[in-house]
Amino acid sequence: MPDQWIYLNGEFVTKENAKVSVYDHGFLYGDGIFEGIRVYSGNIFRMEEHMDRLYRSAKSIMLNMPHSKEEFTGLVVETVQRNQLRDAYIRIVVSRGVGDLGLDPFKCPNANVVVIVEPLAIFPKELYDRGLEIVTVATRRNRPDVLSPKVKSLNYLNNVLVKIEAHLANVSEALMLNDQGYVAEGSADNIFIVRGNTFLTPPGYVGALEGITRNAVIDIAKDLGYEVKEEPFTRHDVYTADEVFLTGTAAEVIAVVKVDGRVIGDGVPGEHTQNILREFRAKVVADGIQVYSEKAHQVS
Ligand code: PMP
Repeated sequence: MPDQWIYLNGEFVTKENAKVSVYDHGFLYGDGIFEGIRVYSGNIFRMEEHMDRLYRSAKSIMLNMPHSKEEFTGLVVETVQRNQLRDAYIRIVVSRGVGDLGLDPFKCPNANVVVIVEPLAIFPKELYDRGLEIVTVATRRNRPDVLSPKVKSLNYLNNVLVKIEAHLANVSEALMLNDQGYVAEGSADNIFIVRGNTFLTPPGYVGALEGITRNAVIDIAKDLGYEVKEEPFTRHDVYTADEVFLTGTAAEVIAVVKVDGRVIGDGVPGEHTQNILREFRAKVVADGIQVYSEKAHQVS
């Protein structure tokens, strides 16, 4: 097994040597941001959008990024190259860095910057063929006017609480409502419902992360001639939808066939969900930046 190379603050180190201080404010306070990105056949999917989201998150929480977006993009490409992976998951973590035990982020002079690239363990194929069963959990989505879900921060306790409830209910993903009872999203996925020829997904202000897979699916659905609406909906709309599916970097597009005991549609992944998944998989390479092209090779 060749070494796995992790980018850590200007160096490439092995997994055993990839360590940060216990005084890191990401560890002490969840003070930091992250991104998860996919590599498909040597192409980093929608890299620019992920980097834009990362830098918007940084700006929002006043986190000084030590690299320009262009420099950092090159470093991420180089990390993939060093690991010689063509299909992979990239995790970028930028924490506030080392400070004292107090909250004050201004006492943390340097962000800690980490890029991890791993082969991907996705949901088993049978789950895509069969579809997921999910439940609605009691944990509500953070109010966007309190802690904006647009900031992809290291504070994921809200989502962790959802995952705990999902585990207790024996399902692999769950649905979170916002404080007003409208459907927000899953623990790490956006939700779409399909009614006739129309796709609905909650708008950002309801409390969902503006997922990059979600954006890609909106583009694909429109290209395929579907109508797409970003509007709030309730659990009733989910139960009575023709089809329901989740989207996310790790999950891609996955059908949901049962919600809170209600069978969705015919209880199997529907044709519209399958159309979207097929198109999504056909487009992922074209929507990416090449890691192993002649030009990209010059980076390393
Ligand atoms: N919602 C949350 C809370 C997430 O963590 C994720 C995963 N990043 C998503 C939605 C899906 O977003 P994306 O398609 O950008 O992975």
